[in-house]
Amino acid sequence: MSLEFNVLATTAAGGRRAEMRLAHQTVQTPVFMPVGTAGTVKAVTQDVLERLGAEIILGNTYHLYLRPGHEAIRRMGGLHRFMSWPHALLTDSGGFQVFSLSQLRKVTDEGVKFRSHLDGSSHFFTPEHSMDVQIALGADIAMAFDECTEYPADRKRAEESLRLTMAWARRSLDYHSAHRDEVPWREEFEGRRQSLFGIVQGGMYGDLRRESAERLVEMGFDGYAIGGLSVGEPRELTLEVISEVLPLLPKDKPRYVMGVGYPDEIEQYARMGVDMMDCVLPTRAARHGLLFTSEGRLNIKGRQYAEDQGPPDAACACMVCRRYSRAYLRHLMQAGEALSGILNSIHNLAYYLGIMERVRGSLQAARD
Ligand SMILES: [Zn+2]
Repeated sequence: MSLEFNVLATTAAGGRRAEMRLAHQTVQTPVFMPVGTAGTVKAVTQDVLERLGAEIILGNTYHLYLRPGHEAIRRMGGLHRFMSWPHALLTDSGGFQVFSLSQLRKVTDEGVKFRSHLDGSSHFFTPEHSMDVQIALGADIAMAFDECTEYPADRKRAEESLRLTMAWARRSLDYHSAHRDEVPWREEFEGRRQSLFGIVQGGMYGDLRRESAERLVEMGFDGYAIGGLSVGEPRELTLEVISEVLPLLPKDKPRYVMGVGYPDEIEQYARMGVDMMDCVLPTRAARHGLLFTSEGRLNIKGRQYAEDQGPPDAACACMVCRRYSRAYLRHLMQAGEALSGILNSIHNLAYYLGIMERVRGSLQAARD
């Protein structure tokens, strides 16, 4: 059995409150997934993630493949055991990082040849290889290997990119179906399987997006993602693509918008019927001193906070806001203390997870 998705309530606007049963954890949706790039959500311990109520986090296939290596992680029992995270995990396909981080890429129908951004070593990723790596890591959800179409992309380029992504989706699905039971936890969780999501691409062209969605649904994945967003396009366009694609995706399968977004965006998309989202923004911004609060963005470096004894966000009950002042957080940042990134990240994640908790509550309440 791969994932089970039980919709508990839906609203007229399309929002859904659901439970997604995965091998390691039942996840309450809509959900925001903190990004744990290299087997760690930067600056936040697994204990704290649990206290914040995170049920599912991301791992990045490209980074873990290069270091420490997927075979090493397989030998250590898979990514859950290696990083001591007994809850749900999702790994991306590696495609996005291959295209954004690596050097000297050569893309053919077969796959992508690239050089590591770490040491310049040469590697070749195919859909089959991406599946192999993700099966070795053993996340609850793996993603089909795709090419993230850049923005802007002209029609011809978007068509060509989509052709590749669709062929790779087919190959990812075929290979994954044959090998999905080779995950490191197969004996521990007998009868439960790794799930595979397809990724809708097509640039900013509505008809290509529709074609992509329809073809993926025909292939039959465990869930569907909308990729290629938040790549520099204006926000109205992001919204337009999501609105175009959502109605084409099966109502009984999870829908995941990759790489979004700001707090108001994740709330808006969740209310439209997006079940899953992820973004590095809360943790990345935190390390630069940017806090998301109920009163908007707050740059903790500001002079005005030098002797401000109030909490970062008076409306937030997180472990940081209950204990520390803006003045102290500003001081940590000014002094370059390691605790600065830790505390800022914890608050921002608490804020993001809190938004989703509220949205889930209101979707549930709007049931009748
Ligand atoms: Zn807080």
